[in-house]
Amino acid sequence: MSGSHAPRRSAGWPTAATTIAGVIGHPVRHSLSPLLHNAAFAALGLDWAYLAFEVEPGAARTAIAGAGVLGVRGLSVTMPHKSEAASAVDRLGPVASLLGAVNTIVFDESGAYGESTDGAGLVDGLREACAFEARGARCVVLGAGGAGRAVVLALAQAGAVEVAVVNRTQDAAVSAAALTPAGVGRAVTGPAVADLVEGADLVVNATPLGMSSPAPAAATDSLPFDLRCLGPRQLVVDLVYDPPETELLREAAAHGSKVANGLPMLVHQAARQFELWTGKPAPIATMWEALGVGAPGRGR
Ligand code: NAP
Repeated sequence: MSGSHAPRRSAGWPTAATTIAGVIGHPVRHSLSPLLHNAAFAALGLDWAYLAFEVEPGAARTAIAGAGVLGVRGLSVTMPHKSEAASAVDRLGPVASLLGAVNTIVFDESGAYGESTDGAGLVDGLREACAFEARGARCVVLGAGGAGRAVVLALAQAGAVEVAVVNRTQDAAVSAAALTPAGVGRAVTGPAVADLVEGADLVVNATPLGMSSPAPAAATDSLPFDLRCLGPRQLVVDLVYDPPETELLREAAAHGSKVANGLPMLVHQAARQFELWTGKPAPIATMWEALGVGAPGRGR
């Protein structure tokens, strides 16, 4: 039964009563979400199991309808399905309806409810891992895709006073900046970017530059500002976590900046998903341990 304290991983588990959650994405076999969520379910003694479902592009609507029919209780939604999922659920939460993207689905008696925990996950993660508070902060976000938009909105909602959006495609930067209250967000290009980075408290890379391992030699060359703008004032965050230290983070640290990779966001967006599905506080230290790195401040 859902929420029961069934023995875990013993012979005979999972049973007919085990509650199922999972992630849909393409590709998804590399996902760390099963590690995080299964560790969290086990820590709380919940008879839940979390699986990864490879779903072809364009098939998210069918997958979500099927999951509802099968009695799946929760889904994580990852690339490339976040927009399609937003149009496939019955109800949208406040953040997902602003973003037009869903990373979390809760199935209940009134259907499928979709919300996005990505941006709030970053804000929570930076608070835990770096003691960074977005309230009053000046921020620069590089990238205006799904993650960039979520981060721009969450920083503004958390009280950032300035969120400059820098993106290769200017229309997308303008659209992301428009998610914020007037006077907070703006799309920026050209020499103004370096000035804003220099005065920023937080710089977030929400582009995939630096994602491949080893990082391409030219990754930081593609950044729209000179790294000499960085110094001890800034916290520099790369949403990429594989490799754990991108060229941007290495260079930023060499210039004296505080740095963080994408793991705090990964852990905390999952923690918020866990709480939406189960109604219980997520065991965050357990989720960090599942990644094999330990919780911030515990020897990581
Ligand atoms: P996305 O929707 O495809 O957006 C990609 C963004 O990066 C767009 O703004 C795009 O600009 C820009 N971009 C792509 N290639 C570029 C290049 N060669 N030069 C300059 N800009 C480039 O992807 P996403 O979902 O936002 O993901 C972005 C990154 O965040 C990925 O590395 C992803 O792994 C990471 N992420 C991490 C977490 C986490 O939990 N840590 C969660 C979500 C995403 P255009 O608009 O010009 O195309």
